[in-house]
Order: sequence, then C-alpha cells, then structure tokens
Amino acid sequence: NRAPVTVTVTGAGGQIGYALLFRIASGQLLGADTPVRLSLLEIPQGLRAAEGTALELIDGAFPLLDSVDVTDDASAAFDGTNVALLVGARPRGAGMERADLLEANAAIFGPQGRAINEGAASDVRVLVVGNPANTNALIASSHAPDIPAERFTAMTRLDHNRAVAQLALEVDAPVTAVDGVIVWGNHSASQYPDVSHATVDGRAATELVSERWLEEVFVPKVARRGAEIIEVRGASSAASAASAAIDHVHDWVHGTGERWTSAGVSTSGVNAAAAAGYGVPEGLVCSLPVRSVDGEWIVVPGLEERADSRAHIAASVAELVEEREAVRALGLL
Ligand code: NDP
Repeated sequence: NRAPVTVTVTGAGGQIGYALLFRIASGQLLGADTPVRLSLLEIPQGLRAAEGTALELIDGAFPLLDSVDVTDDASAAFDGTNVALLVGARPRGAGMERADLLEANAAIFGPQGRAINEGAASDVRVLVVGNPANTNALIASSHAPDIPAERFTAMTRLDHNRAVAQLALEVDAPVTAVDGVIVWGNHSASQYPDVSHATVDGRAATELVSERWLEEVFVPKVARRGAEIIEVRGASSAASAASAAIDHVHDWVHGTGERWTSAGVSTSGVNAAAAAGYGVPEGLVCSLPVRSVDGEWIVVPGLEERADSRAHIAASVAELVEEREAVRALGLL
C-alpha cells in the first residue's frame, strides 16, 4: 500500500456528497491500492449532516479509508489536499438575478481558491461540480495564483456520460461501443453535445441516427436531462453527478489512453492553441474534447467542425465570456 492521498470534498453534507464519499472511500476514485484521507468541508448549517455522513463512512469499515475529518474551516479542509472536489455551491434562490448568483458563489469559490493556494499539496487537482461550475472554477483559479490554471477544472462529464448513454440507447448498442462524443462549452443549457466525430463499434454515429433525431431529440434531451430527473425523481440528480465526478478524477489521474472524453479545462497555458483552433479564447474554463496524458488534460486539437456545430459552440462560449465579464465587473476576478 502507498501513502494516503488527501481528498477534500466541499458541500459534503449534501446529496452529491452523500453519493460521492462512499465511492471514494471504496477506492473507486484513486484505485484499489491507494488509501485515502477524507477531508469534509461544510458551512455551519451543513456540519451536522456532514458529521452524520462521516459516522456512516466509519461504519463502512473501508479498508482504504485512512481517516475522515469534518470542518467548516476552509484552511483546515484544504491543508495538504491532493484532490479537491468542490461540490458545495449556492443554489439559485427565488427572485435571484444571475449577478446575485455569481456574486454569492464568488464569495464561496474565491476564498476556497485562496485556501487551496495557501495549503494544498503541490500536485493538487481541483474539480468544480457546484454551479455555475465553469465560472466558479475560473474564480477559484484566479484566487490561486501559485497553482497552474490547468489544475482547476469544471465537470461536464455528466453531460458527456448522458450523451454517450442516449446514443447507445438509440442505436441499441452497449455504452462501451460508443467513442468520440464531445460536449462543448458551458455546463448549462447552452452546452453542445456533438456526435459528429462519434463512432459506434467503429461506424460513424451520423450514419446510424437521423439528423432530425440529433437536433430534435438528442441535443435537447442531454441539455435538459437535469430538469427531467428533477421532474421524475422529485429531487435533482445526485448519484449520477457523483459518478461523473469519479470518472473525471479517475481519468485525470490514471489517463484515458487513445479515447477522449469531455471536461471543462482552462484555455490558458498548454491548451490555449488547441482551444483557439475551435474559436475559444484564452482565460476561460470551457468544455472541450480532452485526453488525459501523464496526469494532464490535453485538448484534442484540430477536429473539423461543421458550420452548424461551430455556431452552437460559439453560442455557448459567448455565454462563458459573458459570465466572466459579469464576475469581472463585480470585481470578483
Ligand atoms: P447537491 O449536492 O445536490 O448539489 C451541489 C451542487 O452541485 C449544486 O451547485 C448543483 O448545482 C451542482 N451540480 C452540478 N451538476 C449537477 C447535476 N448534474 N445534478 C445536480 N447537481 C449538480 O446539493 P445539496 O443542496 O444537497 O448540497 C449542497 C451542500 O453544499 C449543502 O450541504 C450546503 O450546506 C453545502 N455548501 C457548502 C459550502 C462549503 O463547503 N463552503 C458552500 C455552499 C454550500 P444546481 O444547484 O445548479 O443543481
């Protein structure tokens, strides 16, 4: 067995946290040979729920679980952290304007970025799940000047997994037969799930499904799946979001091989040129096709996009730029 890896989860008392923590403790995040030290962060109102989850984690007697700590102090929670899963966020309240939402979340993700900058391990990897995830990741990163921007990512893997699953269902193939799906842009209704490079058992997906199904069923179904879950389940998706977070970090740490996936990654630094090739400017956290190579997300460069795909991508990127400008105008970046 190796030395324990510290994993911090914020919003640990919430629904996603409840589904996520047990999978981390069982070894599904970092692998069956890596012990984990769990650090749970909550706001004071959420502490009891997180403490309850910690008791259940202990009761799991997980062989890989080295320790569980619960705190409402960000500095303590991120001290020495190797993997930070930022799940807790401020949900949109009734009558809340978008600027209010961005401001409320900046008040969470700014200080967390600072605490990560001060105390995290030098190899720290950050995944933001709490919405608006892309912009929250950008805010956290901008408050962590000593940590490369590439280490701050936003989760679009659930959108990606939903797209893979819907395509597999439509063509009656197992999900493992599907390859090459991409989710572009913001983790919001403007996202663009794209199958133009996808294959099913090596055959072009665009030859197996109709243009009409793609436009009228697939794209809106994937983008609105969260609302559908709320309607049917009576609560927002939690276990599937947790599962996607596991997939994202697992692939980041262990690599993707030749296959690519989708993740919200920084368009500064190593990925600036590849992002620019898709019309995505520097200084955003944008969902793109990525491979994980030697522990780094690398944007797959130079895929040919059709004009209509380009327009969809551009619309979602414009929304990311708008969110960034709104946060900047509030003095929060
Ligand atoms: P959840 O655990 O269900 O969701 C947490 C966040 O994940 C929300 O921002 C939610 O966004 C987001 N999310 C991203 N993708 C998805 C998806 N596909 N499906 C559902 N949610 C998604 O929320 P709870 O209210 O159960 O728990 C949140 C916890 O966070 C609370 O216990 C609260 O106290 C805590 N919190 C902690 C903070 C901290 O640690 N500093 C700060 C703020 C809150 P959306 O709202 O858009 O669904």
